[in-house]
Amino acid sequence: MPELPEAETIARGLDALIRGRRLLGARSLTKGICERLSKYPVDARVSGVSRRGKKVLVHFDEGTALLVSLGMSGQLRRRPNGPLPKHTHMILRFEGLDLLYVDPRRLGRLTPSRVATTMLAPDREVARWCDGRLGPDALDVSWAEFRARLALRRGAFKPLLLNQRVIAGVGNIYADEVLHRAGVHPKARPVDLSAEALRRVHRATKAVLKKAVKACGTSFRDYVTPTGASGDFGNSLAVYGREGECCRKCGSAIKRLRWPPGRSTYYCPSCQPEPNAR
Ligand SMILES: [Zn+2]
Repeated sequence: MPELPEAETIARGLDALIRGRRLLGARSLTKGICERLSKYPVDARVSGVSRRGKKVLVHFDEGTALLVSLGMSGQLRRRPNGPLPKHTHMILRFEGLDLLYVDPRRLGRLTPSRVATTMLAPDREVARWCDGRLGPDALDVSWAEFRARLALRRGAFKPLLLNQRVIAGVGNIYADEVLHRAGVHPKARPVDLSAEALRRVHRATKAVLKKAVKACGTSFRDYVTPTGASGDFGNSLAVYGREGECCRKCGSAIKRLRWPPGRSTYYCPSCQPEPNAR
């Protein structure tokens, strides 16, 4: 699913594509994903595209924004020549080009109704909603903030990293990569770790995400950039999706846990020893 590096790539790609263009209209092809379409005000100029955690925000000159939650498989892509791609839910018509919202698993939303009653909501309303639900951004969270939010936590590390209120932007793929790089077991509890180990996780979080942004993200299943390109980070993955393959650091076989519920976790049993085995 799109995590911080993929959302960042999408935001940058969209910025290049639609900044300065007017949004002329939108057409919803299905129900549920693009709420409040009927109240949609048209003819607003894009002032820029940004990102908060895994969310993409399209800002307009009039002081409004469109908040895009990409869910598990949401894509914003330039309309290709020929027929519409399967699972296209919405066509956003800009001056000179159409942008499509494509989402096979239908878990994404464009400005959900719990954020605002119109699809383009006042910037400050969107910002307030994000402030209330998203912790500091994982790409630039400071050590002091990271420590303050995690050091005393008694939960397992991986679910904490997935919790967007704690740190925003990390999902299932990069949480595994970060913990492997830091040499910390996914079930270790921050409260039990030394300050030094916690610091390694902080450094690893930023290093892994920076590297993945540079590679334009990881193309797993449905992710593509706004121009339809794939991300390149897949070949750099150290553990995610590599069950039974060799750890690139130590050669041990990568293990997979069916945990937390509904997800998989990949780790190296020797680089990331079980907490009680320490
Ligand atoms: Zn290893």
